[in-house]
Amino acid sequence: LSSPRRLLVTGGAGFIGANFVRYWCDRYQCDRIVVLDALTYAGNLQNLAGLEGKNNFRFVRGNICDRALIDNLLVTENIDTIAHFAAESHVDRSIVEPNTFIQTNLVGTFTLLEAFRQYLENVKVTNRALFLHISTDEVYGSLNQSEPAFTETTAYNPSSPYSASKAGSDHLVKSYYRTYNLPVIVTNCSNNYGAFQFPEKLIPLICINILLGKNLPIYGDGQNIRDWLYVEDHCTALDAVINRGKIGETYNIGGNNQVRNLDLVNILCNLMDELAPNLPVSPSHNLITFVKDRLGHDRRYAINTKKIYNHLGWTPITSLEEGLRLTVAWYLHHADWWRSLLSK
Ligand code: NAD
Repeated sequence: LSSPRRLLVTGGAGFIGANFVRYWCDRYQCDRIVVLDALTYAGNLQNLAGLEGKNNFRFVRGNICDRALIDNLLVTENIDTIAHFAAESHVDRSIVEPNTFIQTNLVGTFTLLEAFRQYLENVKVTNRALFLHISTDEVYGSLNQSEPAFTETTAYNPSSPYSASKAGSDHLVKSYYRTYNLPVIVTNCSNNYGAFQFPEKLIPLICINILLGKNLPIYGDGQNIRDWLYVEDHCTALDAVINRGKIGETYNIGGNNQVRNLDLVNILCNLMDELAPNLPVSPSHNLITFVKDRLGHDRRYAINTKKIYNHLGWTPITSLEEGLRLTVAWYLHHADWWRSLLSK
């Protein structure tokens, strides 16, 4: 029987990180969870509300580029698992201002890897040690309609400064396995959606704009295809990987839900029309507005999830209809949460 795990969760005050921390604290109540987060515009302590008092949880505000802080946390908290979520994550921001993407996604990941490598040389941890890098399917680039979905061996071909910085950090992580035998796993996941997602991302943006009666901007012709994964299913996938994933491997994680952006927005409009009383503009699809396409906009992403299913038995369980319904209801009932973020 293994002893309680001791996790350092970077970026735990962001969207996926906070969902993961909530999931883990609930499911593994004996484990220690230390969240390290710089609280950038995307980080929000409200996402972790209710956890502060719990004695297995600690929040530390700090930057993943701060080596001395990380060295200190690893030793004093006797960390065995790093779940590395912290990143600059918004493609549009990376096009306008790529600097912080290079700093956080590349230099930050490198700093964590170096710190963990030297720590493991000096400290014996009780559980199996693991550096889990949470990455994106965007590292693989764009697919056309007929190309097969991304597998773990698809060549990297990133299009944006965001995806290039994530691709670079994936390579760094894998090089630490090959060069130093650092116990790493990389996961490449498709688009997540669910509670606590920052309002700039497509699904929350559409939900909030419908509630405010504002235009629903759609890039280009709206025919770009994304695979959508409900964030709670992502958490169960990461659970499987942390507990049973093979060191040195990469796992693709997806929702098996390929949808055109325009179709997705129409589903959201229908759900809001059904669930929200007294919308400012009804029916909501009257708000749809096509805007100039994003530079370097990838046409299609699709994930082949056979490996994680065959090796770890993981599969997503939330249908798109069900997940979107839960998400629309969440934004409808958490106006205080998103209103406070609109100026950021
Ligand atoms: P997010 O932008 O919501 O959260 C990022 C968090 O990292 C924030 O809390 C922020 O304060 C923190 N952070 C940023 N820079 C930091 C720094 N230098 N030091 C410490 N903390 C810092 O992002 P998200 O959507 O939750 O994504 C989490 C991870 O998952 C990212 O690595 C992202 O690349 C990856 N990912 C996201 C998606 C998605 O659909 N959202 C899909 C696949 C992979």
